Parts: sequence; structure tokens; C-alpha cells
Amino acid sequence: MKIVFFIDFDGTITKKDTCVAMTEAFARGNWQELEYKWQKGELSTAECARETFKLFDVTEEELRKFLIENIAIDEHFISFIEFCRQKGHDIYILSDGYDFNIETVLGKYGIKGIPYFANKLLIEGRTFDIKCIHSSSACSRCGTCKAELIEKLKPENSLAVYVGDSYSDICASKKADIIFAKGVLLSHCRKNGIPAIAYNDFSDIINWANSQ
Ligand SMILES: [Mg+2]
Ligand SMILES: [Zn+2]
Repeated sequence: MKIVFFIDFDGTITKKDTCVAMTEAFARGNWQELEYKWQKGELSTAECARETFKLFDVTEEELRKFLIENIAIDEHFISFIEFCRQKGHDIYILSDGYDFNIETVLGKYGIKGIPYFANKLLIEGRTFDIKCIHSSSACSRCGTCKAELIEKLKPENSLAVYVGDSYSDICASKKADIIFAKGVLLSHCRKNGIPAIAYNDFSDIINWANSQ
């Protein structure tokens, strides 16, 4: 059966969540409360981002430099891409984070040609905004709702494999056939009786796919 991988970006491909890292570095004020409200579902991704961006003090160039200097990816992710290309497995990145962060970090590693779906980060001078072009009318929380994207992108008679780590992966966990999870997503799946495979890094995913 054809395997299609849907992969979260922040904290899954990257070791640190780039949205959290840039907020820690550049927000002045009590962003923690906003983050906590988002985690509890009291603020949507767009609402949380807009409130958090009011606290931001940084330019596009400074953010790019910060991401390049501070964000590393899973050591086995590049091998995973090569493996998928050899075997003909499709990969999509689904992110409730930002296009700018994805482009910058993948660019740093010379990774090209992986389609991604994410929120747009709009920067003008020191003013930041979010544009959610993949939100879903069925979901009031996500900026980029992964449930609808998986339904749209998954070919018939294929196995949709999702890899993720956190809150923004919860919608995806309702639609994927196989879930690889760590962190908050793993606890969520365990608590709610959703079958999930615990993993540490992308070498575990390669090993699994090799045995299919
Ligand atoms: Mg994540
Ligand atoms: Zn959603």
C-alpha cells in the first residue's frame, strides 16, 4: 500500500518549536499566559499569535538570523527524506506555525521540494501578523487545520502516517491511519485511547517503514 507521510514541523522536524523559541527571544511582556490559554484551547492560533505579536520587538532580518543560529533539525530527518524519495513515499509538512520559519530552517539545511502547508507570517518593519490560509470552518482553533488537509491530500487506498509532538497535532490525530507521537501528542493519544506509536527520532520512522 502507498504510504503518505504527514509531518509536523515545530518540535518534530526541528528540535525546538520555532514559534516558542522566537517568542522567548523577542516578546517583551507576559506571553506565557497567552501560550497557556492557547494550550487550553481558550485562544485560537490566530488570536494567540496576534496578541503575542503585540509584544514582539524584532525585524525580519534579526528573526532570520536567530532561526539560522538557534534551530537544529532531527539528525535523521535528511536520511528520512532520502529514504522516502527512494521508496516513492510522499511527504507533506503540515504546520500550525509559519511559512517563514519553515523556509528559513529548511533553507539552512539545503532541503528543497517538500510541499508544506502553514500559516503566513507577515512582517513589515517591526510589525508582525499572521494570515491563516488553511483554516477549516469545522475547527475554531487551528490556523492551519491538519484534519482537513489530511482528508484533502490523502490519495485513495493509501496509508496516511502522521508524525507529531504537540497540541496542534490533535486534529491530525483524528484523521491519520498511523500516528507516531512524542510529548504532548503522545500523552493526548494515551489519555484518549487513540492508538499511537511512541518514537524518539526519524530513524524510528525509517525502521518502521522498512518493515512494511
Ligand atoms: Mg509541533
Ligand atoms: Zn483543527
